Amino acid sequence: MTTPRFSIVIPCFNEEGNLRLLLERIHAAMAPLKLSYEIVVTDDCSTDGSWRLLEQMARADPRLRVQRFAFNCGESAAVWAGIRSARGEFVITMDADLQNDPNEIPRFVQGLERYDCVCGSRVQTRARGDNILRVITSRVGNWVRNWLSGDQTSDSGCTFRAFRRECAANIAPFTGMHRFMPTLIKMEGYRVGEIPVVNQPRHAGKSHYGLWNRLVFLQDLLAVRWMKKRRLRYEIADCVALEPSDSASPPG
Ligand code: UDP
Ligand code: MG
Repeated sequence: MTTPRFSIVIPCFNEEGNLRLLLERIHAAMAPLKLSYEIVVTDDCSTDGSWRLLEQMARADPRLRVQRFAFNCGESAAVWAGIRSARGEFVITMDADLQNDPNEIPRFVQGLERYDCVCGSRVQTRARGDNILRVITSRVGNWVRNWLSGDQTSDSGCTFRAFRRECAANIAPFTGMHRFMPTLIKMEGYRVGEIPVVNQPRHAGKSHYGLWNRLVFLQDLLAVRWMKKRRLRYEIADCVALEPSDSASPPG
């Protein structure tokens, strides 16, 4: 197989009831684009039949590549490992539960003509796929996040995104990072845009996060704020007997 242009990266924890339909829908959405692609699924040590099913599907589908964690490591780790295994020039990340609609992938592909990274935003549609408590925590969370980190992302927690793979090459991986990818990628100096996406109800299974889990993100937020402030910034003005190295003064 030649190197695919796009890698669709999916974290999976106990998603047995979603995987078949997810794969079918991704293939159906990708077919008209006539692009080469692979699907990389990282199983976060599921306790249901997800892994068995993934193995079976990967044997029958040359576009599907799968790996399994030795223990449950969390969504950030599963996304990160998937990005590390991806071979495409572009990466698309999405959840396994069909809350992200594969039919929207072409709009992300289009967005990559203008931006290095395109992030989905569920602000306009969130209320349709989630209960009121989640809508409120998400709105408040995004507002506090933007206020503290000086960012403008409208829905940083939406993990439906597309970016040049190089955008993620130098960001610091940490547990919880999947909620901060737009800020982290902006910190690298890349152009980050947003497109509205629908937020579907979960197809099968249940969410892995409760309110408490979502509050842990405040701690991560302070870490991102710190990273943003303390990041090295310099610019080489002149040099003798040296090739000028890259400046480390990304905007923001
Ligand atoms: N996930 C994972 N490891 C975990 C928790 C979640 O890989 O420990 C995956 C999960 O299978 C899904 C995505 O991360 O593909 C988002 O999880 P979930 O749908 O539970 O989050 P929510 O949409 O409720 O925020
Ligand atoms: Mg979900």
